[in-house]
Amino acid sequence: MSHVFPRHCHGTFPTATGGDGCFLIDASGKRYFDGSGGAAVSCLGHSNERVKQAIKDQVDQLAFAHTGFFTSEPAEELADLLIANAPGDLDRVYFVSGGSEATEAAIKLARQYFVERGEPQRRHLIARRQSYHGNTLGALAAGGNEWRRQQFAPLLIEVSHIAPCYEYVERAEDETPEDYGYRAAQELEKEILRLGPDTVMAFMAEPVVGATMGAVPPAPGYFTRIREICDKYGVLLILDEVMCGMGRTGHLFACEAEGIAPDILCIAKGLGAGYQPIGAMLCSSGVYDTIAGGTGFFQHGHTYIGHPVAAAAGLAVVRELLDRGLVAQARERGMYLGEQLRARFAQHPHVGDIRGRGMFWGLEFVADRDTKTPFDPKLGVAGKLKKAAFAEGLICYPMPGTRDGKHGDHVLLAPPFIASEAELSDALDALGRAISTVIGAAT
Ligand code: PLP
Repeated sequence: MSHVFPRHCHGTFPTATGGDGCFLIDASGKRYFDGSGGAAVSCLGHSNERVKQAIKDQVDQLAFAHTGFFTSEPAEELADLLIANAPGDLDRVYFVSGGSEATEAAIKLARQYFVERGEPQRRHLIARRQSYHGNTLGALAAGGNEWRRQQFAPLLIEVSHIAPCYEYVERAEDETPEDYGYRAAQELEKEILRLGPDTVMAFMAEPVVGATMGAVPPAPGYFTRIREICDKYGVLLILDEVMCGMGRTGHLFACEAEGIAPDILCIAKGLGAGYQPIGAMLCSSGVYDTIAGGTGFFQHGHTYIGHPVAAAAGLAVVRELLDRGLVAQARERGMYLGEQLRARFAQHPHVGDIRGRGMFWGLEFVADRDTKTPFDPKLGVAGKLKKAAFAEGLICYPMPGTRDGKHGDHVLLAPPFIASEAELSDALDALGRAISTVIGAAT
């Protein structure tokens, strides 16, 4: 009997024993193409020599030094590199161990910022429905994904949730994408006014929505308007790029494509690329200076923040991305992936939408394409697709609840940026077979 407490208590999973490029290998020797990187983690594949060597070297030199006493070379260098490439006036980095810790820290930083500014009445956080920002209680409260929140609701801080920007379902037939983007963003202004502008501290959103909706990019102009609204009411903009950041969308930071910068930016997953657990919260000089010039102490912290080995891994990952031009590669190869997805599945009677950016794509499945009606959740389409693809040697990330947390099914694809066109093509063959098995072949 295994003594590991797995997420799925009754699931039986193969034991992963190795990684080779874009593939994971189990104890029986079966190879799986990692088409989702867990969930958008493995940007460099599973056997990157530079990152592995950086970790070994760092352990040899210094395994751990608590940030209450020391900083470390890799943490300093990684912070410098991130800031040198970050948008706007983001100029400080707070390292954590993962995505939930990053969003949790962002919520607390936003709150402390306003307390130190002498505006303690600003306590409301606004986020969006169908969103996921992590599983710790603050991050879970920020997320608007109903099935994840339900049983914990009595423990969660109060957060307002507005509609997500979701062109496929919400844009009216006679509306331009730009008009829809503006209309969707206005939801934020309405909510700020409803709550009282001087009580709102921050708005949190993913630039490209990952796990909960399946790689949904914003409508044109949506984030420009969101930024304007935040500025108008003095509300901090927190962007959660835990999944869509670090080159995944073909830009080092996903918000670059929108031409805006947040006040606080959260990254994780691709930063450690699976080699080490690391995340970070970047904040603007305005936010940092308020605290530095006030109490001078951010009332937060974890034992492993700024861990030298994790930072060394993150540093090697970012250097790999930049030195080898892998962000541009994600953009170009992602175009191939998008073209192939459309060529193979756009006419499928149960594929309603294909969307994405860079190496970050989603397919939304529907019972009826004309009416965009989702499948009955009882059919468990997403779960069946996950199993069928896995049997085919493809790891992808199907999720139910795309539309409202209950209805709708999508598959998320987030392969390593190093995947070749041939590997991607094979992966889509496997996906096609899985789709045929579960909901029938393309006509
Ligand atoms: N934010 C987003 C957008 C995510 O997709 C995730 C994880 O999937 C998180 C936060 C939480 O990250 P972690 O699982 O590393 O805590």
